[in-house]
Amino acid sequence: MYAKPDSNTMTTRIARAEDAMDAALKSLSYRLTETEDSRMTPKTPDVARPNGAATPPSLNGMRNDNAPVPAGEIAPEIAPLPSSAKRTPEAIAAGRPSREEAEAAVRTLLRWAGDDPNREGLRDTPARVAKAYGQLFGGYEQDADKLLERVFEEVEGYSDIVLVRDIPFYSHCEHHMVPFMGLAHIAYYPTKGVVGLSKLARVVDTFARRLQTQETMTAQIADVIESILKPRGIAVMVEAEHLCMAMRGVQKAGVSTITTQFRGAFRNDPNEQVRFLTLVRNKP
Ligand SMILES: [Zn+2]
Repeated sequence: MYAKPDSNTMTTRIARAEDAMDAALKSLSYRLTETEDSRMTPKTPDVARPNGAATPPSLNGMRNDNAPVPAGEIAPEIAPLPSSAKRTPEAIAAGRPSREEAEAAVRTLLRWAGDDPNREGLRDTPARVAKAYGQLFGGYEQDADKLLERVFEEVEGYSDIVLVRDIPFYSHCEHHMVPFMGLAHIAYYPTKGVVGLSKLARVVDTFARRLQTQETMTAQIADVIESILKPRGIAVMVEAEHLCMAMRGVQKAGVSTITTQFRGAFRNDPNEQVRFLTLVRNKP
């Protein structure tokens, strides 16, 4: 049972917590500030911008913003981005910084982490990271609708379940930009025809290679299949491990998160859901 502490104990606890906070702040300041003055600057609260874009770096509380910035290290001008609801290729192109700006941002993060971007091992890292982003986040350039446009109708009237399971994917959580990865399973009951099986795997890739939440990704996969193929039913299950949970925060490894979407014939029929889950789990 939790006993309410008396006010003395409480005060002691608060004092101890304050001491601990002070010590933590001091060590942070020690690592991150260049001057005595900047330690005194109040930390400005993060204010979400109406367009959903990230606020400009507000690290005022920890570093001296008046210190001269080494050439090419920080690109503070962040162009306002259009709402993330519908990111057209044009909008993405318009809001995209130059390659040089992206590399400068990586150098800034390297310094933020505490390292020296000029040391030999890190010298080419900003260029490598910018290049890797092209692949890791290549999903922004792809249109999942287009992948499903080609439908094979000559399937001799096949209208039973089509299941593609164990599609591996790698994504990044939109909260920490840390990877989460796992398997996606997709089933549908065709009406007007079937799509090439590899297309379903590519649909998963298209959404995975963006900043995501697992829930959103699961719904997006179901949405696009539903809108293009108009199947009698669709079931999507995604199981993943989130490294942001394993490496930081609660630091629990090996935890898997499962998300599902059931549409059409699967939505209200537990038998259909059981059939789907049985086919997913029963491996030869
Ligand atoms: Zn995260």
